[in-house]
Amino acid sequence: NPETPTAISPETVQKWDNRHFFHPWDTVGGEDADRMIAVEGEGIYLIDPDGRRFIDGPGGMWNVQIGYGRTEMAEAIGSQAMKLAYHSPWAFASEPSALLARRLAAMAPGDLKTVFFATGGSSAVDTALRFAQFYNNLRGLPEKKRFLAREKGYHGSTYLAASVTAKERDGNLLDTEKRLVHFLPNINPYLRPEGMSVEDWCDAKVADLEAAISVYGADTIAAYISEPIMASGGVIVPPPDYHRRTREICRENDILYISDEVVTAFGRLGHWFASEEVFGIVPDIITCAKGLTSGYLPLGATLISDRLMAEICDAGGEDAVFKNGYTYSGHPVCCAAALKNIEIIEREGLLEHVRELTPHFQARLNELRRHPIVGDTRGMGLVGCVEGHPAPGMSERERLAIDQEFGNRVDAKCEAMGLIVRPLINMCVFSPPLIITRPQIDRMFDILDKAIGQVEAEMM
Ligand code: PMP
Repeated sequence: NPETPTAISPETVQKWDNRHFFHPWDTVGGEDADRMIAVEGEGIYLIDPDGRRFIDGPGGMWNVQIGYGRTEMAEAIGSQAMKLAYHSPWAFASEPSALLARRLAAMAPGDLKTVFFATGGSSAVDTALRFAQFYNNLRGLPEKKRFLAREKGYHGSTYLAASVTAKERDGNLLDTEKRLVHFLPNINPYLRPEGMSVEDWCDAKVADLEAAISVYGADTIAAYISEPIMASGGVIVPPPDYHRRTREICRENDILYISDEVVTAFGRLGHWFASEEVFGIVPDIITCAKGLTSGYLPLGATLISDRLMAEICDAGGEDAVFKNGYTYSGHPVCCAAALKNIEIIEREGLLEHVRELTPHFQARLNELRRHPIVGDTRGMGLVGCVEGHPAPGMSERERLAIDQEFGNRVDAKCEAMGLIVRPLINMCVFSPPLIITRPQIDRMFDILDKAIGQVEAEMM
């Protein structure tokens, strides 16, 4: 095909990909993986080598807020690359990173006005955790190092970020820093015992945090890390008031509260950041990435409270040197992409757009519960999850193969109808580009509804 932009055939792409690209979160040596090839992106669509268009249900990996194919993003990136592609972040300042830091500080809640630039979500989280340790070392509290995290949480794939991650089945053969971390039990209200109210469930989950603090002692705990809604653990929305209460407990116990907004920031829940505007809390530290550049380039950030920065200066004076950094911290081209992305979100009113579309999106999602094979649906803003229960009553272990079959079958049927979903065992998650329209949402859920109906007929 003379119009194909690459000289090699799709079959060759797959062959070389199978052979040489060690894909993230995958088995070693997937010689017959034959992944679908993405050639182009346009708006909410991904386009394959045959020109077939697919709605990108997961929006890349929860990150493609403004959609694909934006000329002005390419121009902003190109012109910054021509002007100044790189400078040492240690030795120099430059306009893109200074402007972006100021912009993020202005959007952030409370006094989170200090911005550390990382290369993505994992390194932003890693920085936050290392900062908590650094902070306590400087304060002369070397024992105060433990992290509290939660079952089903996902915070990244660097060593420390992976150590506070607790998706069972992840990381079985990888080492993590187990001595440093305690995981609080799953907060998913769907799991509450029959007859228990959501309020009582919330009390129990808050009590789990209090119990962990009394077991270990606040003087051994540096920080608590929490996703506002737990994304890749299966879109777990906490019971109302959970975040506010846990935030207070952390404050009372001198435990830093890290809000991992890698998924929830930049409009996914209809606001720049969800912590304050959706959940009413001001954390000590916020981590973000993904939607910061809408996936056009990699970038992450760790936003730190001025109170902590002041304490550090008081405690450490000239010695308060945080020896944590990346060659690409504050990369000028990535920062230019983020600034343009933020400008587009603002100019096109995408935060308001998400808030307007949310009731419809969530209503369409919840309609899927009419299928007996669907155990639960849950979501917030433009993010949702449908959880299939093809084999109720089986033990978790027995269910795994069947559950996986559910996810994979729904995925295959949706793909045949032009929708990408992201199967997570027995769940499919959605976080489409924020530019999605109401008719496109309807199209997405119509396809899903049909696919689930077909899978139900096959499996139940
Ligand atoms: N935190 C959360 C909440 C995430 O969802 C992710 C990625 N899915 C990360 C951190 C890690 O981000 P990255 O993959 O950019 O390193």
